[in-house]
Amino acid sequence: MRKDTFLGAALILALAALTGVALWQTAGRHAGGRVAVTRHPERIMGTTCTLAAVVNSRDTARAEDALRRAESVLRAVEARMSVWLADSEISRLNAASAAEQVPLSRDTVAVLRAARDAADQTGGAFDATIGPLIELWKRAAERDRVPTQAELDEARAASHWDLIELTDAGAVKRGASARVDLGGIAKGYAIDRAAQALHRAGVAGGLVDLGGDLKCFGEPPDDPHWTVEVKNPLGVTRLSRLRLAGGAVCTSGSYARFTVIEGERYSHIIDPRTGRPADAAPSVTVIARSALSADIWATALSVTGPHGFKRLPKGVEALIVAGTGEDHRILCTDGCRPLFMDPLPRVTPAGSAPPTRAGSSP
Ligand code: AMP
Ligand code: MG
Repeated sequence: MRKDTFLGAALILALAALTGVALWQTAGRHAGGRVAVTRHPERIMGTTCTLAAVVNSRDTARAEDALRRAESVLRAVEARMSVWLADSEISRLNAASAAEQVPLSRDTVAVLRAARDAADQTGGAFDATIGPLIELWKRAAERDRVPTQAELDEARAASHWDLIELTDAGAVKRGASARVDLGGIAKGYAIDRAAQALHRAGVAGGLVDLGGDLKCFGEPPDDPHWTVEVKNPLGVTRLSRLRLAGGAVCTSGSYARFTVIEGERYSHIIDPRTGRPADAAPSVTVIARSALSADIWATALSVTGPHGFKRLPKGVEALIVAGTGEDHRILCTDGCRPLFMDPLPRVTPAGSAPPTRAGSSP
């Protein structure tokens, strides 16, 4: 039987500000002739970036080349999918009128398809068609006034997947008001593609870290596993270290990204069901094989809280902080626990039996 786990109250305050910042602890060390060559490109997708390639010490030119390729993959995804760039493919799609054929790259069509599938898989918690709601809350922050219910209803009705038709070569909107925002998925996709570029360049191991969301594969120079530190950004303590043979870790959290309107803090993640900022889970860390999945589910669980665990696909594990104020609860899926190198504090079975995962017995 698979059940979720309730962590003891002792660490609750420390974990309220949980983040998934990764510290890759072996970069640059030598062992058995292998080295890690790193690169720290200037801001990509509004955040910091670390790339690493593990090669034989005679092969650093290969590593440099691989890292350059990985960086250009990340920048290409940003150029195509950012809503912050007026000439991105997504900005052109958003500005298009109804029935206009909007040509899109294969990458952008792939991400739009994945986003549409994610809306089904997450029961609507992840919905990239919330563009008008994101813009409404942005304006609300600028004028320091919470939107009215009528404004929320209008923004919600303006955009949904039925209004967007995807083809292999692009998209056609059935209504001009439909707008997408790939901010919850493009980063994960970019990380996967950049890791793939490293892999194809023939390196023995690699790491792509975009602002704490990351993917690793192969081996670091002196360890068969990668070590990812999950820490509390407000304090010196770390929660624990994850030991990964490869895979992705993504974190979503309203503690770090929020706006203040009329004196209240609001998350940057929108609950598509209400049109209002999500408040179910201040911090969610997801571990999955692909960064695409981890990115999607970190956002989706921020909307649903632990109730979303039952929808998690096999192989996707999550650690979340649920609740508000003094009522915080820390929950993780069973498969999550063995990945932590340092024992998590007092782990007790959930007394009130939170929802089990899809496919598990009750
Ligand atoms: P993340 O920080 O990875 O959870 O991504 C959050 C970003 O995804 C936001 O800044 C928005 O651009 C977008 N977003 C917000 N709410 C949602 C949602 N419910 N579904 C899909 N994307 C969202
Ligand atoms: Mg994310």
